[in-house]
Amino acid sequence: MTSNSLRDADIAYTLHPYTNAVAHEQSGPMVAMRGKGVRVYDDAGKDYIEGMAGLWCTSLGWGEDRLVDAATRQMKELAYYHSFNHKATEPGIRLAETLVQMAPVPMSKAFFCNSGSEANDTAIKMIWYYHNAIGKPEKKKIIARLRGYHGVTVAAASLTGLPLNQKGFDLPIERILHTSCPHHYRYGEAGETEEDFASRMAADLEALIEREGPDTIAAFFAEPVMGAGGVIVPPKTYFEKIQPILKKHDILFVADEVICGFGRTGKMFGTETFGLQPDIMTMAKALSSAYLPISAVLINETVYQGIRSGSDALGAFGHGYTYSAHPVAAAVANETLAIYEERDMLGHVNSVSPRMQERLRALADHPLVGEARGIGLIGAVELVADKATKENFDPARKVGPSVAAKAQNNGVILRAMAGDIIAFSPPLVISTAEIDEMFDRFGAALDTQAEAMGL
Ligand code: PMP
Repeated sequence: MTSNSLRDADIAYTLHPYTNAVAHEQSGPMVAMRGKGVRVYDDAGKDYIEGMAGLWCTSLGWGEDRLVDAATRQMKELAYYHSFNHKATEPGIRLAETLVQMAPVPMSKAFFCNSGSEANDTAIKMIWYYHNAIGKPEKKKIIARLRGYHGVTVAAASLTGLPLNQKGFDLPIERILHTSCPHHYRYGEAGETEEDFASRMAADLEALIEREGPDTIAAFFAEPVMGAGGVIVPPKTYFEKIQPILKKHDILFVADEVICGFGRTGKMFGTETFGLQPDIMTMAKALSSAYLPISAVLINETVYQGIRSGSDALGAFGHGYTYSAHPVAAAVANETLAIYEERDMLGHVNSVSPRMQERLRALADHPLVGEARGIGLIGAVELVADKATKENFDPARKVGPSVAAKAQNNGVILRAMAGDIIAFSPPLVISTAEIDEMFDRFGAALDTQAEAMGL
């Protein structure tokens, strides 16, 4: 049964997510066999610095025995129980308590899911249910942003503002709208300051709300730093200008903390870094350091009271997953949060992130790099054909993917995103020496690419 090589068996039997099926038949997979610290090793024993912490998630790196032990203990004690119909488990109760208490703005209740997509889908359903329950059934439209990323389930993929996730899938669904993307480098006009650009973004949002009718707009979703859309750090004053517009029109604000949550931007949540006042927060990834799938939706008291008030007319809150608050995943999340506190992860992030940002920004001088940007332990370089005009490369040339492939050859795994943007989001436990090694390996790849292009 296992006579095929791993490579051949993978090509024969797996349809890969986010992978070009035709190209995969030629390239085959990179098969990760084991991991330790910030490194993973493939089936030939080659080591890679995981510059993306997998998919922005493995915050504590690989080989963290305490998480293994927490999972083992819980599996032996109570491997599974659910949370429907008034049932609960100790890890789930403790995790809800911890998350509500550590939330940077007042939150009231936690609801558990298994992925970021499910958390955002759940938030959408809560928002719709809430407005039905409080007698505003016409207030249902949701605004997200172009290039925002909120997942790939049908509703979450509709929020996501990227063509790859919608083209071919007949998305977005109705009632989901998109406002402009606050990427100053790419969409700012010549001479437009970040502040002026932020004012224009806020005016775009308000114009959309007015056009649609404020009474029909239920919520606005935003990542504090946009991740998969290209690591877009909000321009100065952006959220200061957006939030009063939401308040004025009685629109709920959902902060998607799936990437930013748990220290990535230098504070526990992106909400703190950018002074947000969300009504709902979604979180996943670093919640369990990705050792097991788990995500959460936190809702404030207003949203809770609205949902609660639906109980008479609507009955039980008819939403939930078999694995909502899975006790083993919750136990791993509890241990992850305990480790963050005991080891002062925020202190560590703030001690090493200046080096990451310094090395990143030094790349701005490279002939291929138009902009280098980031905050904390997240960043990106945007590759351009012309530094002065910021002209993009023809996507058909696949310059970004080619740089990422060369980096992988050099032993650092990064992510090439649309627009020839290369993202960095290493495990939060990375050391300064490892940051240097990551950028040395990447810099060599960038040089090889430039040479191949005759630059
Ligand atoms: N929101 C954000 C901000 C994300 O980055 C992601 C995943 N990259 C998601 C939601 C979706 O999470 P998942 O892949 O776990 O469904």
